[in-house]
Amino acid sequence: ATPTALMVGTGRGAQLGILIKGPEVLESTRRIDTVVLDKTGTLTTGEMTLHEVIPATGTSAATALARAAALEDSSEHPIARAIATAAGSQGATLPAVSGFSSISGLGVRGTVDGASVIVGRPALLEDEGLAVPGDLAHALEEQQREGRTAVLVGWDGEARAVLAVGDSPRAESAEAVAGLRQLGAEVIMLTGDNETAARAVAATIGIDEVIAGVLPEDKATVIAELRASGKVVAMVGDGVNDAAALAGADLGIAMGSGTDVAINASDLTLMRPDPRAIVDAIRLSRATLRTIK
Ligand code: ADP
Ligand code: MG
Repeated sequence: ATPTALMVGTGRGAQLGILIKGPEVLESTRRIDTVVLDKTGTLTTGEMTLHEVIPATGTSAATALARAAALEDSSEHPIARAIATAAGSQGATLPAVSGFSSISGLGVRGTVDGASVIVGRPALLEDEGLAVPGDLAHALEEQQREGRTAVLVGWDGEARAVLAVGDSPRAESAEAVAGLRQLGAEVIMLTGDNETAARAVAATIGIDEVIAGVLPEDKATVIAELRASGKVVAMVGDGVNDAAALAGADLGIAMGSGTDVAINASDLTLMRPDPRAIVDAIRLSRATLRTIK
């Protein structure tokens, strides 16, 4: 095994837009048989927009949006940015907030206009004892079937509106998935998003294995379980919520467009946000190590 060949492989990686942390990373890359990809920001652009506000009977869409946006104004989450931006472009005046808190992978809460308001996963509102009226439950499912991430805003014991946000799959994602399969890898989508929405997006990209509704702290557990079953696992992600999973995989791959936390936890960084580079990386590692042997 010549160090020179490894250095050449690492250099070739840089030409392909793949930053490799150290020459030894090529060996773990070569052995990968399972590739787990985060959805939002990795397989999709992560540039979320608010598509629709669907209020419950008796609630004004404008009030629901203003209250949700008032809270999301303090959050960095892509869903939060989409909601706050939409309220801003509609010229909404945001009410004052007190007692804001963010619940990682679930949503946000605080006091707005004297009411205790929650925005987030449907399960979060249900766990907090808010009722979801039938018309909203129906709207929620309809949006999820379209592949949209539907969050709820609620106050005074009830969910008051569905906020449907979404982004688009990256143009290169389907080709990347096909390329990974061609190399013999099993491809899995891993996301905190709802299962119905995740499956709708996965279907357009050609992925049939989906692990959805996973809390940020449980993403690493999923990776550990796949490894324990004998798979050699690459995890691809972009967010703070992916960092533990990236660090716990046989190979962590960060999108260069992602957060520093994700990049620091990874062995490989894709300098362009193009998942096809994962296919290039595996091909390169196989070619380089063949040369050595
Ligand atoms: P992903 O794994 O797709 O990057 P996250 O773990 O960040 O997703 O979030 C999972 C889910 O939690 C979201 O789909 C949404 O339902 C809810 N959520 C998280 N943060 C927020 C927020 N700031 N506002 C509303 N909903 C949120
Ligand atoms: Mg992400």
